[in-house]
Amino acid sequence: MLVPRCRTQLAVSFAALPLLAFLGACGTGADESASGLLFTNADVVDGTGTPRRVADVRIRGDRVVEIGDLTLEDNEIEVDATGLVLAPGFIDTHSHHDRGLTRMRDALAAVSQGITTIIVGQDGGSPLPLADFYAELEAAPAAINVAAYAGHNSLRSTVMGDDFRREATSEEVDAMRTLLRRELDAGALGLSTGLEYEPGIYSAPAEVVALAHEVATVGGRYISHIRSEDRTFFEALEELIDIGRETGIPVQISHLKLSMKSLWGRADETLALLEEARAEGVDVTADVYPYEFWQSTMTVVFPEREFTREVATFALAELVPPEGMLIAAFEPDPSYVGMTLAEIAQQRGKDPVTVYLELIEEVHAIDGRESIIARSMTEEDIAALLSWPFTNVSSDGSLAGRHPRGFGAFTRVLALHVRERGDFSLETAIHKMTALAAENTGLSDRGTIREGAFADLVLFDPATVADRATPTDPNAPSVGILGVWVNGERVYSGEGTTDNRPGRVLRRGGM
Ligand SMILES: [Zn+2]
Repeated sequence: MLVPRCRTQLAVSFAALPLLAFLGACGTGADESASGLLFTNADVVDGTGTPRRVADVRIRGDRVVEIGDLTLEDNEIEVDATGLVLAPGFIDTHSHHDRGLTRMRDALAAVSQGITTIIVGQDGGSPLPLADFYAELEAAPAAINVAAYAGHNSLRSTVMGDDFRREATSEEVDAMRTLLRRELDAGALGLSTGLEYEPGIYSAPAEVVALAHEVATVGGRYISHIRSEDRTFFEALEELIDIGRETGIPVQISHLKLSMKSLWGRADETLALLEEARAEGVDVTADVYPYEFWQSTMTVVFPEREFTREVATFALAELVPPEGMLIAAFEPDPSYVGMTLAEIAQQRGKDPVTVYLELIEEVHAIDGRESIIARSMTEEDIAALLSWPFTNVSSDGSLAGRHPRGFGAFTRVLALHVRERGDFSLETAIHKMTALAAENTGLSDRGTIREGAFADLVLFDPATVADRATPTDPNAPSVGILGVWVNGERVYSGEGTTDNRPGRVLRRGGM
């Protein structure tokens, strides 16, 4: 029998022996879930924010069934977790890890940093109809759970087509509302917007409010890449708060940041505004990723989409310096990928403003793809926004992207903000990655380790856990994550992904 042999061979310390040895001794992870699993002597950080405690945790099937001082039973595999932290699997409330997920179903980028659930359909973009996306995922599941918002930009594109550079008519808003209702009925968590992007940037605030009212009828929620992350940042926050005020639904700010020189140091003012809204009864929350640079398009810092010298000069002075703008994609000349605007300007023998405008023109001429990574935040501001009690951690990352957040956001918070900077405790950090994230997205039975909850778990070494991904090596897996389980099945061993694909589609309210 395979299982009893495992039982004796597996009482080993994870700290001393890589989990792969465990995998080698026992065959596939499927044996674990069939027989049950007992984590012994773990430092359990349960997601609620309360101090860790040493305990044993028993899993049967897809659930945690017992926590306490437990005895190994027959046909049960022991995982000796002495000296290691056992936490709920991380919930990434702003993820793009669905891109390519049907091809990269092991989701290495996500699971290797401890993520077990991703929330997609962000920045106003979602697969339409979600019912088809869900059916595809259920026919060929991934390693991780997936929940989604319905995206405003996707709805708007479907209704308005190419004629989108204007406010929508009331008939068009009604048509969007009908489509949105279909998505909500399929299980969408609510509505996401990307108001700094086409075509949503042309919408009137009233259009978004009308759609948010539809969300309110089913008890959903709203999440937004707000209308401006720089020049009119505070007005954009007010727009989001107004939506919460008028419709009563929870509203979340995606990747909250202070990304303009004149906004640096103004975290207190920002959080005071949000606290004031909360005191008034508006359920406003935020998510933050722990990097000083964002990734977006070259044109996102031109709010009027007028590519003049004046706006470009302002952008390079206030929003992203030429040496801080790294090209992540550039279809007209892929050799620019990995270079900064400053380097390209030097190569062309021209000033950065001129070259910036040239690059935009070149990409538009072929309707090509482009993307930049732009350094425009400070670590102090990030720490302050991340420390707000209603901020949860997100990655904004993807499976094979150029921004290191795709592989390192969560582990970076543990290494930088907990261990190095001491901005908050490990228990608080885990809370921001799990129970708070579940609350901010309306997911139930996930995000805490308790009897009856789903067995989404991550085992890590708190002394060594760290991100390794950088802008020049963005797909480097983290270290210190020793095992990840989704719905009771192991998907990551600490050395690599397993063959298990236990991920589920999570619909609003468990529907
Ligand atoms: Zn965004």
